[in-house]
Amino acid sequence: MITVEKIVRSTCPYCGVGCQVDLHIALDHIVRVSAPANVAPNYGRLCVKGRFGMDFVQHPSRLKFPLIRKDLGEKPRKPAGLEGFRQASWDEALDLAATRLAEINRTYGGDAIGTFCSAKATNEDNYVFQKFVRGVLGTNNVDHCARLCHAASVTGLQIAIGSSAMSNSIAEMKNLEVFIVTGSNTSETHPVISTFLREAVVKHGAKLIVIDPRAIEMTQFATLWLRQTPGTDVAVFQAMAQVIVSEGLYNREFIEARTEGFPQYVEEIMDSTPEWAESISGVPAEQIRQAARLYARASAAAIYWGMGISQSVHGTDNALSLANLALLTGHIGRPGTGLNPLRGQNNVQGCSDSGGLPNVFPGYQPVDNPEIYNKFARAWGVELNPEPGLTTMEMVDAADAGLIRAYFVMGENPLMSEPNLRHARHVMENLDFVLVQDIFFNETAEYADVILPATSFAEKDGTFTNSDRRVQLVRPAIPAPGEARDDWKILCDLAQRVEAKLGRESSAGFTYAHPAEIWDEMAALTPPFQGINYARLEAESGVHWPCNSADEPGTPYLFTDTFPRGKGQFTPLEYGAGAEMPDDEYPFILSTGRVLYHWHGGTLTRRSRLNLIYPEATVEIHPEDAARLSIHNGQKVKVRSRRGRIEVKALVTDRSPQGMVFIPFHFAEAAANELTLDVRDSRAKIPDYKVCAVAVEAAV
Ligand code: SF4
Repeated sequence: MITVEKIVRSTCPYCGVGCQVDLHIALDHIVRVSAPANVAPNYGRLCVKGRFGMDFVQHPSRLKFPLIRKDLGEKPRKPAGLEGFRQASWDEALDLAATRLAEINRTYGGDAIGTFCSAKATNEDNYVFQKFVRGVLGTNNVDHCARLCHAASVTGLQIAIGSSAMSNSIAEMKNLEVFIVTGSNTSETHPVISTFLREAVVKHGAKLIVIDPRAIEMTQFATLWLRQTPGTDVAVFQAMAQVIVSEGLYNREFIEARTEGFPQYVEEIMDSTPEWAESISGVPAEQIRQAARLYARASAAAIYWGMGISQSVHGTDNALSLANLALLTGHIGRPGTGLNPLRGQNNVQGCSDSGGLPNVFPGYQPVDNPEIYNKFARAWGVELNPEPGLTTMEMVDAADAGLIRAYFVMGENPLMSEPNLRHARHVMENLDFVLVQDIFFNETAEYADVILPATSFAEKDGTFTNSDRRVQLVRPAIPAPGEARDDWKILCDLAQRVEAKLGRESSAGFTYAHPAEIWDEMAALTPPFQGINYARLEAESGVHWPCNSADEPGTPYLFTDTFPRGKGQFTPLEYGAGAEMPDDEYPFILSTGRVLYHWHGGTLTRRSRLNLIYPEATVEIHPEDAARLSIHNGQKVKVRSRRGRIEVKALVTDRSPQGMVFIPFHFAEAAANELTLDVRDSRAKIPDYKVCAVAVEAAV
């Protein structure tokens, strides 16, 4: 019988719902996880990952000591297992990292260093990371996995309304009237949110429109399910807009008062008839009409979307076409309405908010705005680089061209998450220096020169910001393994050492005693955070930004009177096909995504008991396709694209339509990204993980 010694309130480290959890601790272990009943955003609910997937923190393979590669300096570098590294002291590892970063900075300039911060680390960790990169390394080459999941949503929403965060709160979901879910397998990717959405349908009679190629669970609750051919989303959304305009269902008053560009938009949209969209997407024209009428006639209607919309070469157009629908109908700026990109990682919202992006300081303040630049340069006491940096994929290109010589990767695993992994590995092989800071030895760490062991969410103080902009605390519940240190502490130490190696006086201020001090510094420089502090987060268990002063309550839903860009902008769009469509040699469309029991690159869930439930990769294939290829359920099959090949187990199901296969991207031994395409959306620079051409055959 285990006696629970304490219960520590914290925030789930998996998805962007940001569920509040109570960690039950005995003998320095998490022995149980429960959820507080009356606390937002989850009100007592947890999914299987939150309830049973926290044991990764106690996994024996946690990194406990700094490590240094044994064949340091050999090029091209080879992937090395743990046996290719030796244990080092913190002093030796940090000194080596600082020396190499300073050398590369002196020889090639700060822009020769590419850095990746972490949507799994706290806001405070990420604030210090980007301050180090900008203030000490002198580059804005800082990006993170938001680039690979919702960059297109960010770009599209910035164009349309000037703000990219989810506009409405999770708390509003269960009282919805009409809502669209598109490109989001919500019950597996954001399970607790899906319970609120289903409750809206089952208990309150809300009408749900699902627009998705796969027969995801949410379709069972839908009034309408529009099953488009993958990659044809813009055609469907355009045709819905055409119906709304041609049938006079738009909101004249809202359009006149709050938008611009309507006349030009109407001119462009009128040819996008439902019949035209049917010929492209396969969705019956009548269904498109019904969906448009249902959405437009509601007194309040919301749109939720996920990576199925954003991870596309047309991702920005997808987001813009959803924004056009909300602006046409005025379904934004009120409870139960809005444009809501469901954020993936636990702190992907916060990492972006904290300045983990190449073009903006914390709070989306542009690095190339002289007034903003001067504010941060003065506060940090340093000269800054006024040129926006490179995005994740641009850093890969720059490294390939020899312009980037070093990577610093904190809490990310690009060698699982980048598309076209063979190319990404080739780039890593030729870098001069690779520094990895993480809690586990992962696929990227195999290419590192120095590995620094960090603490997990359960071992440190800090804040995460969830998908609906709610800033919430994490608290230390168990001791860190071995000599692992908090990310922000490692970064402060490293920053001071690099400054010393560069012969500079320590001026940017890396001497915090507690993450609360880091938050206060960030908030003082970032107006939407100025009303939030740790004392308030303790007392209120979370506050939605924007919250400009201590006497404001926070903002659960946005845009009541105006948009950040002033008026909402209608954008005419043209439909474009996917970058790589099926042909005789590669006859299937491959789409990638998540399953309930795993999370992203699998670094955490593959080290939890959840891996027992879902231990290996599968490829979803339609029964008729499987029969034609003589593939039976559970059989090993080969999937190959023009970039690589993997072997996976067939899952014969009509969940995916004929002609499409679906592979989850959590499994390193059958990494879906060996197959994916690194062509990207021209504006958001996000690669297309949802449409590329593959061939499937039985493995012999
Ligand atoms: Fe954690 Fe997301 Fe599950 Fe909530 S829904 S318990 S935040 S993984």
